[in-house]
Amino acid sequence: MIDPFGRAVSYLRVSVTDRCDFRCVYCMSEDMNFLPKQDLLTLEELDRLCGVFIDKGVKKLRITGGEPLVRRDIMRLFRSLSTRLGGPLEELTLTTNGSQLAKFAPELADCGIKRINVSLDTLDPVKFKAITRWGDLDKVLGGISVAQKAGIAIKINAVALKGVNDGEVEEMIRWAHGNGMDMTFIEVMPMGDIEPDRFDQYWPLSQLRGQLLSTFTLDEIDYQTGGPARYVRVKETGGRVGFITPLTHNFCESCNRVRITCTGTLYMCLGQDDAADLRGPLRASQDNKVISEAIDRAILRKPKGHDFMIERDGSRPAVARHMSVTGG
Ligand code: SAM
Ligand code: SF4
Repeated sequence: MIDPFGRAVSYLRVSVTDRCDFRCVYCMSEDMNFLPKQDLLTLEELDRLCGVFIDKGVKKLRITGGEPLVRRDIMRLFRSLSTRLGGPLEELTLTTNGSQLAKFAPELADCGIKRINVSLDTLDPVKFKAITRWGDLDKVLGGISVAQKAGIAIKINAVALKGVNDGEVEEMIRWAHGNGMDMTFIEVMPMGDIEPDRFDQYWPLSQLRGQLLSTFTLDEIDYQTGGPARYVRVKETGGRVGFITPLTHNFCESCNRVRITCTGTLYMCLGQDDAADLRGPLRASQDNKVISEAIDRAILRKPKGHDFMIERDGSRPAVARHMSVTGG
């Protein structure tokens, strides 16, 4: 799958549910409306669709959501997709809030999952509650520990939030590196209506990086995970810190990703509205060629990039859908 700008698409992110057991303030409003369950692809349909993408050149598959581990019977999908590992599929992974990891990590490890991303924006239990509204920090930390014992490598992802976690990023780095984990920071993106003003949340990573320089020595390194993060090594801890900067530095020139939602809509860019329905072709025919052709037509429309912007009183989000729909 080669797009009009010569970029090969080899990375698929699949949202398996728009539901979640948290309500993070930058991601969802507290009274989110979720999709009716009958609109969702079944696990068998998700498996078949992923199979078509793998046959077309996808080497890395990330399961996300919403919270992927709250989807009922989700391990059936992991189990089935894992049979593709060792063949054309090089990596099967997930992004999770960690709340269910204590329960599922051993089975995930058994399915050949080697590394996962856990989203965690603070180590302060009171702030954690305020950010996630419904989350319990101890449960997440317990889940991380079970996953590590199961042999899964963990990268911690934190959204940089002005006035919320800006006073503890150094501590988070020390904690992550002290426990053998990479740490990545993400700029908040204007996706979906939420109650707070995004301008108040937005903390550019150029500023975060500047702040880190007063405590740490950051050495540029050429480490890649196939995602959009750029990494440095922290001399004092020996660990890696990644920066995902959709706003201050657009990384679209090297984009290798597309996303499917839990209803089978293919988004060629996280920050644009153009999309292609794959649920129709999936349900219309047992012939995977029909789906494959629909994917080919969509890849030819992959845009050059996103144009996220966050401005005071620019309260309309860049895209109307929430991150939990497209899958982060
Ligand atoms: N529930 C899982 C989790 O939190 O890891 C997976 C889905 S969540 C939508 C994926 C990632 O997107 C999380 O790291 C979350 O912090 C991030 N995210 C959600 N909304 C965001 C936004 N508006 N801007 C930047 N990152 C966002
Ligand atoms: Fe749920 Fe993840 Fe969104 Fe938080 S960021 S509300 S955990 S989907």
